[in-house]
Amino acid sequence: MDGWTPKKGGWIEMICGSMFSGKTEELIRRLRRAQIARQSVEIFKPMLDDRYSNDHLVSHSEVRIPSRTVKNAAEILENSSEAQVIGIDEVQFLGPEVFEVVQELARRGKRVICAGLDQDYLGNPFEPVPQLLAVAEYITKTLAICVVCGGPANRTQRVSGGRERIVVGAKGLYEARCRNCYEPPTEEEPLGTAPGLAREKA
Ligand code: ZN
Repeated sequence: MDGWTPKKGGWIEMICGSMFSGKTEELIRRLRRAQIARQSVEIFKPMLDDRYSNDHLVSHSEVRIPSRTVKNAAEILENSSEAQVIGIDEVQFLGPEVFEVVQELARRGKRVICAGLDQDYLGNPFEPVPQLLAVAEYITKTLAICVVCGGPANRTQRVSGGRERIVVGAKGLYEARCRNCYEPPTEEEPLGTAPGLAREKA
């Protein structure tokens, strides 16, 4: 970007997994620890995700921390020059540009902690998370509990809401499923069934 090379190195931490696996909660936990140590922290989330609060990260379990909502990855770079620690939630919604932004922040000596989905609802890698995983120093895979069998779940099953890759929502639209209980949607069975129907079929 500007070619500046820092003397001290930063690093990248990835927290990824399916929905309901506690990614945001883990991100908030790490950012709180940094704040308690009086490190300067900036926290970002994409504009797209306004399920709960516009100026806070809020986990499904209602843990919250103040955050800045950004329209694109470049805004993260613009607003983090003072920060030692940078948190980014729902990183998969920030597009391919976020990869270079995160790398640049780490080059500038910052600790960058990203949380996001590693797979989309079809079970495919959710770019740019695979690229970030490749360059991250630390990776945490969070697992949910499969609503069908109770086993460890790493998939997000969409039970209604259509076929767009991004359909923001939580309860009722998605369920955590394990590899065995996950059912890829088929052309013959359009999504849009009531929550619970897909589960009973399994
Ligand atoms: Zn299962």
